[in-house]
Amino acid sequence: MSSNLNGRLLEATCQTISEHADELTRLDQAIGDGDHGINMKRGFDALAAAAEELQQLDLPSALQKAGMLLVMNVGGASGPLYGSLLMAMGKAAVDTPSCVDDVVSMLRAGVDAVKARGKSDVGAKTMLDVLVPVLEAIEKNPASPCAAARQAADMGLEATRAMQATKGRASFLGERSIGHLDPGARSSALLVHAICNVLEDS
Ligand code: ADP
Ligand code: MG
Repeated sequence: MSSNLNGRLLEATCQTISEHADELTRLDQAIGDGDHGINMKRGFDALAAAAEELQQLDLPSALQKAGMLLVMNVGGASGPLYGSLLMAMGKAAVDTPSCVDDVVSMLRAGVDAVKARGKSDVGAKTMLDVLVPVLEAIEKNPASPCAAARQAADMGLEATRAMQATKGRASFLGERSIGHLDPGARSSALLVHAICNVLEDS
């Protein structure tokens, strides 16, 4: 088990994607093409394989390198989107975030990059329905950012159930996309939980 924070974050995120790959795939079978779990597992397996190299980098470089690895290995719509998230977070990151403001600036840059890349925003039944409320919750609750982020992730995910998808493959289903959780929102919520668990433990 890795002792440094970046290493533990990497380990925890890779583990949660691996453990929930089948669930993500099942969600994508309902409103997409059934590959989200496979895509995400392939991407995070590539991160795990590069763990030694990633851990030697400072946070900005590690996030940018991880983002590039996701673009190259996840595929699908979610690869470039998660890749953009991490690369933009890396560009905005300071070496050692020391306050909630540092995390908020980093996350805001990442979320803005996903919006731009996906030409999307909240309400389209995507990962943004988790990422945007998480960002806002952290901003509003600097005293308990992890608790706020977890709750926002869970509520944002659940809210996708009633939405009709207007972006991505699920939008092809029109009204039939209603009544299902969005797979990308679920993977984002899993990542938020894994990251919060590590940060609260550190
Ligand atoms: P694909 O749809 O190409 O098969 P995945 O199944 O890996 O790719 O990822 C699907 C997820 O990507 C969706 O559940 C959704 O959360 C996210 N997504 C798709 N299109 C967009 C978009 N334009 N903006 C934001 N997120 C999107
Ligand atoms: Mg898919």
